[in-house]
Amino acid sequence: MKTTAAGHIRVTQSAGRVLIDASTIANRVSKIGAMIGRDYQGKILDVVVVLEGARVFWKNLARAVPDHLDLRVHYMRASSYGKGSTPTRPVRLSEGRGISLRGRDVLLVDDIVDTGHTARALLQHTWQRGARSSRLAAFLSKPDRRSVPVQIDYLGFEIPDEFVVGYGMDYAGEYRALQDVRVLEGLD
Ligand code: IMP
Ligand code: MG
Repeated sequence: MKTTAAGHIRVTQSAGRVLIDASTIANRVSKIGAMIGRDYQGKILDVVVVLEGARVFWKNLARAVPDHLDLRVHYMRASSYGKGSTPTRPVRLSEGRGISLRGRDVLLVDDIVDTGHTARALLQHTWQRGARSSRLAAFLSKPDRRSVPVQIDYLGFEIPDEFVVGYGMDYAGEYRALQDVRVLEGLD
């Protein structure tokens, strides 16, 4: 952190500017946890956390979900081949062995819905695995970037079309541990 001549605190260029601060995030995440608790009352919920980006979101969301809810937690990786946003861009999914979703109520937990390809592929995957219901919780959404429609059942925040880091999200493996969501400026 640096202090400018005018006395304003400004973060170093490399860490970007704060878009959503930690306490705003904490408030919103606890509300989402309460909503999930109400919606799935008395059920067993199979949570599928999308690594790596959604790890921090899930860690905090899990604490906000009431204890009466019975959770089974799974982890899955999603990565897209190549860059750009061609509509047919394939998404590669990989998961731990032995995850059975047949007949289950599934909640996918992801960090950002950007073009929507990843979320759509994940939702399709859970249906193919025989889930009884499948919903999506996303920490962030960039609606301006959407190229395939996706229904987000539990959303943290809508954000503009900017590249963000922190709260589990990275740029080239960096900045995941930041407590706030920040915009990285000066990226190509
Ligand atoms: P989509 O398939 O285009 O919706 O891509 C979604 C994935 O891209 C997210 O789950 C993130 O892993 C990654 N992503 C998209 N935008 C950002 C960002 O601003 N910061 C960090 N990761 C991002
Ligand atoms: Mg992701």
